[in-house]
Amino acid sequence: MRYVEVEPGRVWLSDGPPQAVLGRGQVRVRVEACGLCASDAHMARGMRLPRGVSYPVRPGHEVAGTVLEVGPGTPALSPGVEVVLHPLDPCGHCTACLAGREEQCPTARVLGIHEPGGMADEVVWPAHRMVVATGIPSWEAALLPDAVATAHHAVRMAELPATGKLCVIGAGGVGSHALELAIAIHPHLRVAAVVRSQASAERLWSARIPVEVGLEGSAERLRARFGRFDAVIDFSGAREAAAEGIRMLEVGGRLVLGSIVDEPIDLGTTVTGVVTRSLRIAGCYVSTLEDLREVVALAQSGRIKLGPAVSHRIPLSDAPRAFALLEDRPPGLRRMVLEP
Ligand SMILES: [Zn+2]
Ligand SMILES: [Zn+2]
Repeated sequence: MRYVEVEPGRVWLSDGPPQAVLGRGQVRVRVEACGLCASDAHMARGMRLPRGVSYPVRPGHEVAGTVLEVGPGTPALSPGVEVVLHPLDPCGHCTACLAGREEQCPTARVLGIHEPGGMADEVVWPAHRMVVATGIPSWEAALLPDAVATAHHAVRMAELPATGKLCVIGAGGVGSHALELAIAIHPHLRVAAVVRSQASAERLWSARIPVEVGLEGSAERLRARFGRFDAVIDFSGAREAAAEGIRMLEVGGRLVLGSIVDEPIDLGTTVTGVVTRSLRIAGCYVSTLEDLREVVALAQSGRIKLGPAVSHRIPLSDAPRAFALLEDRPPGLRRMVLEP
């Protein structure tokens, strides 16, 4: 079988035997589509890998595929079933796992980092980390495990009232899924977005979503149009996003931060400003299996449309070109999926 390997500055396709025998609870999946995201680019550029992992790495954590073979102890799945894979395999018995925060499991194995990933013809992964995704085109389903499930996690953390108001800062990639999910789950919600590019703005305008272009001063402009928001979700990772978001919030509001940025946080207010307005600030880190189940159901029922988010479908054999595109970021690039 073919699989992609990366090391700092290099991406290539290899050929080798698949895992011969499946262990208990394992399932062999024929990869139909595997998404590429910024974290893959980061890995190919060279990053500090988690303990016990070394280059070359076999990437691919956004997998949609078809079950080929099931190992012992996997009664729920059978060959031919279409699935998506949750990229984390948590231990299931640590404090975080038992508290329902499996995304914080310190010994979780990550597909495409700790274990050979899905930029390959086949992948092996535990059955209990798969969700049946019948009826969703695989190149769309590949968006569900990471970008869409993470957006769902953020929407959940925003604890939106059914008729409340949500602002999403950075509604290009994951943020645009957060907007769409929030509207799908709460049809009477009022939403607005803040984006950086004119292209993102036009896309949202065409979906009749009110948009502000440019973060600076956006809180003030949005306040004039909408008043204050019950929740603000930031996926822009911009330095001023937290402060601008805090300015948008209603008393008791939630600021959900979803970008990983190694910068000190500037809330643009005083401790009093947070305390007396009873504000909450939450970090949203990846997603849980439950998030994946819910977004699969939303996609199956047609309440979210994933197709328009995919700009490039690239054959697996062209993986190096796909990684190069991810670096160049040509105009019109949204999400890319590799298809074996
Ligand atoms: Zn990803
Ligand atoms: Zn755990």
